[in-house]
Amino acid sequence: MTAVYRSLSFWHDTVPGPLDPRPALPGDRDADVAIIGAGYTGLWTAYHLSLLDPSLRIVVLEREIAGFGASGRNGGWALGEYGISPMAFAAASSRDAALRQTRSLYDAVDDIGRVADAEDIDCHYAKGGWIDWARSPTQLERAKASVTARHELGLTEDEVRLLGPDEAKAFGNATGTIGGKFLSAVAAIHPSRLVRGLAEACERRGVVIHEGTACSGFEPSVVHTDRGNVRAEVVVRATEGYTRTLTGHRRVLAPIYSLMVATEPLSEKVWDEIGLAGRPTFSDARNMVIYGQRTADGRLAFGGRGAPYLFGSRIDAATERRRDVHDRIEETLRDLFPAIVDARITHRWGGVMGLPRDWTPSVAFDRSTGLAQGGGFVGDGVATAKLAGHTLAELITGTESERTDLPWVGHTSRNWEPEPLRYLGINGGLWMASSADRAEARTGRGSRRVDLLNRLLGR
Ligand SMILES: Cc1cc2nc3c(=O)[nH]c(=O)nc-3n(C[C@H](O)[C@H](O)[C@H](O)COP(=O)(O)OP(=O)(O)OC[C@H]3O[C@@H](n4cnc5c(N)ncnc54)[C@H](O)[C@@H]3O)c2cc1C
Repeated sequence: MTAVYRSLSFWHDTVPGPLDPRPALPGDRDADVAIIGAGYTGLWTAYHLSLLDPSLRIVVLEREIAGFGASGRNGGWALGEYGISPMAFAAASSRDAALRQTRSLYDAVDDIGRVADAEDIDCHYAKGGWIDWARSPTQLERAKASVTARHELGLTEDEVRLLGPDEAKAFGNATGTIGGKFLSAVAAIHPSRLVRGLAEACERRGVVIHEGTACSGFEPSVVHTDRGNVRAEVVVRATEGYTRTLTGHRRVLAPIYSLMVATEPLSEKVWDEIGLAGRPTFSDARNMVIYGQRTADGRLAFGGRGAPYLFGSRIDAATERRRDVHDRIEETLRDLFPAIVDARITHRWGGVMGLPRDWTPSVAFDRSTGLAQGGGFVGDGVATAKLAGHTLAELITGTESERTDLPWVGHTSRNWEPEPLRYLGINGGLWMASSADRAEARTGRGSRRVDLLNRLLGR
């Protein structure tokens, strides 16, 4: 079993300790809080609940092992941005609320480092920020607009700033760089070390984690699993890209794929050419998201979107490893850094993220039913799940804080359309993003397709 789980990602392949499943739920049991899903969202919720009220009986139910999902496979950016922009939050609430929402996430990025230290989780945390290179005039325009809008909202130059070509290249030597954007509140981490360490920290505080336990559905005060029922006053759904597996939840979050590769450890000579000292996370400002980090053991871990959404929200291991998409990602990486020309790619993997209909992440707790949920993070869930878990724990224990009245608390996205509309809409959007990038590369001008896409999605 361990070998199967190790093969899920470079991160699981290099995490210390066994990956054997913890004991499954032994039959019916009672708890105060039952949490479905042992990724960052479920485990941060359990962790903060155990701090706020050590007397609570908290049970986490996980179909596979802790970190099986996106939390053990991601790009390792603990990122101070959501799937929607701070300006979109302001449009839906107010300028002040959007700034509080944004800065709460910046705090969560720092908090991950603090908890990792306190709990002795060696997750290779390095707060080097995010360099988003502009590698064409269109990308530079996009970076400028993004920084200007954030400054107009009230974010400071220390938090986000535009870079000239020399400054942008000083972070890392990507080809064709003519400028860039830099966001300070971003740390690189080793995702599996964080999620596995967090599971152990929860257990040290009395949380019980049952792995190999598949939940089929839930209702107020009870979770149904293949191993028995858990009766609990509070039930938390923390299943993100896999939410469709729960009865009645097929259209809540669409599973969207993101795929990654990792190189072998690179020589000092190659690193001298590439840079990235201080381990900033990196991307460029194209429409189809790409993301990378320099790992603590001297590799490049790099990913991108572009694999298709599958009809009926199907989740499929073969799509997580599509050769054509991995080839494209590898090609993009070699285009960014020609210095890696001879470097071997040692790992290829992928996973699913949860896409809400309006792209807006949320946390919610309804005291009258005892039902809670956190998710819809798309590709920005590492730090967001930390904030979500902290907030959910406060909502559940009735602890008021600067987090419990943020705009995303209680937000609900409407369900996705039934098929085939969902399939056509999501894959149409993916096609528009990649064809806009091709058009931009060809013509050197921005593409209207992206504006159209955003309008269609209601963003
Ligand atoms: C390849 C990739 C790269 C990414 N890169 C980044 C990045 O660099 N930065 C960033 O911020 N975000 C990134 N993300 C997104 C981020 O990883 C996720 O948003 C985050 O990990 C979500 O955590 P979660 O706990 O909500 O969900 P998950 O980690 O997916 O956890 C859900 C858990 O629930 C379990 N589960 C599901 N259904 C059931 C059921 N019915 N019964 C029992 N258990 C169930 C699953 O097995 C899983 O372990 C990336 C995602 C992917 C796939």
